[in-house]
Amino acid sequence: MFELENCQICGKTYTSNGFHKVCPSCLEHDESEFDKIRLYLNENPCAKIFEVVSALDISLKKIKRYLRECRLEIIESENYFLFCEVCGKSIHSGKYCNLCYSSLNHCGYRSEYRGKPAKPIHFKSS
Ligand SMILES: [Zn+2]
Ligand SMILES: [Zn+2]
Repeated sequence: MFELENCQICGKTYTSNGFHKVCPSCLEHDESEFDKIRLYLNENPCAKIFEVVSALDISLKKIKRYLRECRLEIIESENYFLFCEVCGKSIHSGKYCNLCYSSLNHCGYRSEYRGKPAKPIHFKSS
């Protein structure tokens, strides 16, 4: 199924396969930025979000999007950074806590990212 959508990053119209929310050129850039994070976390397994942000010059917003897409996962359950969109509880990754996720799941909701397993990242800022 193909649909025309607006890229969430640059706003350009592109043909979507319903899986990615960004246009192919942003996707490519996005993948390479994510690769940098992945490598950084491989080399620094206990890196915190703020270290990644400053070491790689990547915006916090972007990290949050990777978390929402389940490509990164916060280790601390009480992280005060990522919250369930339904009940507002702190979550590790994605958009919903397990409870809300399972109640949404039987309504046909599927998590967007089903690729490589999420990379764990520490949140604690100090
Ligand atoms: Zn784009
Ligand atoms: Zn919830």
